[in-house]
Order: sequence, then C-alpha cells, then structure tokens
Amino acid sequence: MAYPKPTRRSWAEPFKIKVVEPLKTTSRQHRVKAIEEAGHNTFLLRSEDVYIDFLTDSGTNAMSDYQWAGMMLGDEAYAGSKNFYHLESNMRKYYGYKYLVPTHQGRGAEHIISQILIKPGDFIPGNMYFTTTREHQERAGGTFVDIIIDEAHDPDSTHPFKGNVDLQKLEGLIKKVGAKKIPYISVAATVNMAGGQPISMENMKAVRKLATKHGIRVILDATRAIENAYFIKLREKGCQKKSVAGILKELCSYTDAATMSGKKDLLVNIGGFLAINDEKIFDEARNMVVVFEGLHTYGGLAGRDMEAMARGMEEMVKEDYLRARIGQVEYLGQKLMDWEVPIVKPIGGHAVFLDARRILEHIPQDKFPAQTLAAEIYIDSGVRTMERGIVSAGRDPKTGEHRHPKLELVRVTIPRRVYTQAHMDVTAESVLEVHENRKRIKGLKMVYEPKYLRFFQARFDRI
Ligand SMILES: *Cc1c(COP(=O)(O)O)cnc(C)c1O
Repeated sequence: MAYPKPTRRSWAEPFKIKVVEPLKTTSRQHRVKAIEEAGHNTFLLRSEDVYIDFLTDSGTNAMSDYQWAGMMLGDEAYAGSKNFYHLESNMRKYYGYKYLVPTHQGRGAEHIISQILIKPGDFIPGNMYFTTTREHQERAGGTFVDIIIDEAHDPDSTHPFKGNVDLQKLEGLIKKVGAKKIPYISVAATVNMAGGQPISMENMKAVRKLATKHGIRVILDATRAIENAYFIKLREKGCQKKSVAGILKELCSYTDAATMSGKKDLLVNIGGFLAINDEKIFDEARNMVVVFEGLHTYGGLAGRDMEAMARGMEEMVKEDYLRARIGQVEYLGQKLMDWEVPIVKPIGGHAVFLDARRILEHIPQDKFPAQTLAAEIYIDSGVRTMERGIVSAGRDPKTGEHRHPKLELVRVTIPRRVYTQAHMDVTAESVLEVHENRKRIKGLKMVYEPKYLRFFQARFDRI
C-alpha cells in the first residue's frame, strides 16, 4: 500500500520508553465469559482480562524516571516529612494557594471541604456534577444545582468552552434561595462529565465577580486544571502568548480553595490535596484531616507519594508534554469522527466520549445503552472503557427515581504517557467494528444496585 504524502509535520511523544509492561491478549470466548462474570460492568473486570485499559485516567499514569528517583527519597517520618514541604512549596508555586492539606486522593479533600462549609438545606451550584463531589455535598446535607451552559448537555455543540458557567442560571439560583444558603460555587476545570470540556478564563473571572458581589466562595475542582489551562492557551483570545503554567495560576487566583485528585494531572498513581487561602478554614481542615486521613503532613500518603506528586507538578506544566497528551486524545477522537462514529464534540482533554444515545438509538435509556456499549467493546477487543450516563447519574435522593441525564456516553479515557498511537488505532478499529454491528445489540437490565456511587459495583444481565 502506498502512503499518502503528509500534509503537516507530526508531533511525537516527548519521551522514550525505559520500562515495559507486557499486555495480554485474550480470545473472544474468554472475554464473553469474563464480562458475564463481571455483571456487564467494566469496573468489575479483572485487569488481567483486559488488553488495553481505557477505563480511567485516574492513577493509571506512567511516572517518569525523575519521579521514580523521587520515590527513593521518601522521608517516611510520621510527622513533618520533607516531602510534604516540597509538595507544599510546589503547590504554592504552580497553583498559588496559601495552605496545603494532603489527602489520600481527591474525594478525601471533597469530604473535608464539604463537611466544613455545607450546612443541611444549603445549595451548591456547579458546572455539572461530578460523582464523588456531589456525593460528598449531598452527605453534608446540601443539594447540588447544575448551572453549566446548555451547550454542555448537547454532544454536537462545538462551543469551545462547554465547561462555562451559565451566569444567568447562577444569578437565578442566588435570587431564588439567597446567597446565605450557598456556601460556595463548585467550579470544575475541565468538566469531566461534560466530556473533559474546559471553562474559559473570561467565564471564571465573571463567576468570581458575581460570587464576590454576593459574598459567596468559589471552590475549584483542580483535578484536570492544567489540561484546562492548555485549552485556554489554544482557544481563548489573548492567551496564545501566555505560558500554560501562568494560565493555571491565574485561573486558581479567581478561586478561594481547590480540591485536587493528584491521580490525574499530577502524573502519579495515588494522592490528592485540599488547597486553601482562608486561614480559618485551613485550621479546621487541618484538624479534620487527622480524623479521616492522617496527620496534616501526610494525609494518608507515604512520603514517597507526596514526592512523586511534587515532581509531577513540575512535569505537567511542560508544554511539549501537554501537546502530546491532548494530541493523543485528539488523534483517537479525530479518527472516530472521520469514520462517522458519533462522539462528543469538541474532543475533550482526557478522553473521547462516545455518544451511546446515538450509536444505540434503538435502546431506550432505561435499558442502559452506554453500559451495553462498553460491554460490547470489551467483548470485541478487550479494550476497557466505562459508562457515563444513567448508571453514573444515580437516583434522585428525594424521589428515588433514576436521574435521566441528557448525555448517555461511553468514556474512552486515555492514561497519561502509557499507550502509543498504535493502541489508539487498535481501539478506534474496535469501536468502528461495534458501531457497524450496532443494530444487533440489545440492552441490559440492572440486577444489583448498590446504594452509593452505583456505577462502580452495579451488576447487569442481558435482556
Ligand atoms: C477523579 C475525580 C475526582 C475525585 O478524585 P479521586 O482521586 O478519584 O478521589 C474529583 N473530581 C473530578 C473531576 C475527578 O475526575
């Protein structure tokens, strides 16, 4: 076969491979059995039975030699580990908040901030919910209110900042319930559930302005904020000349505190933190972390884990890394778009989101089209993806009914620095195969439903 002449110069990963982990291929028959045993839930598969693992980008990153070297410098003192101070100083340098409380992962930070700030009966507006974030807000007695722009719920809208807050929706809520009932605005950058979509700097500034006017705090979910900052540089007017590191710090400067899952942007396998400017809240958080996570200088982490996070911050801001990271996701997404497989547009930062509602349009939402599609892709090739639709949305705590999100998606999530372009090709080909045979796919019924965050452990049977 003749290859056409390239029309552009390619980029390549700005690293080479020093250690490899073999992958295992399995037979179709083996996979059919494995997914049945897993109750058609890809979270319940054994990783050994997976070929390419695109379940999540959480904690699945490949660390660099610099990070691994840092692991050997773990100071495992119970109190005052030097790695804590390194992490604290890098957090200040790259995110700009005053105080740091380490936690075992992002939800540890969400738990603490929710318990401190939310009173029963409060409302927490946010740019689309995230599963663990909302769970902790509800456990503290709050009600989450979605104030993201309408475009975020439309997989075909190519709005460049689908993570933006709808300021009118926010103002409407403040008018309706009163600022006193809103302890903070929960702003995510990027928005995972909308498809890894960014919020613009301009919108963040406007949210800050409105919040200040009403005396409301802004709390950032900074989990993928560096990827958000990269999108701002690419897409927002007047930002092309700024450094991504500078954009990140500016973004954080419009917020009062941040919860962080280090397992995403920070290129590690475990870790997180809460970062705060207000001394009083910090004081409470530092006290509370002792009860739930560990002493305030380790928060459930080993010294070596904190060191790896501190070093990950130095690496995440490198723009050649970000170009390859976002570029790899885009490569996969573009391929699927070229083949006319419906996906969420624009292509997000950490994942390609397949539009299961459109792909399996003959399956009603109550028969779990996205859950079904993820299971079918696994059976086809051993590629593991996950559901982001009605199962993830859970039930309304008041009515007990399924919440019916507009987006019924399968997330093909790309771990950082782990897979190559060839893995993207194999995955795209498998998705295409399933897409072409979509008409014969039938839905699922739920046969076991856990009470909290059901998508992790729910079980399904074929209809
Ligand atoms: C992963 C994630 C969290 C929770 O972090 P964990 O480290 O998994 O506890 C919170 N918000 C967003 C947007 C996430 O993607």
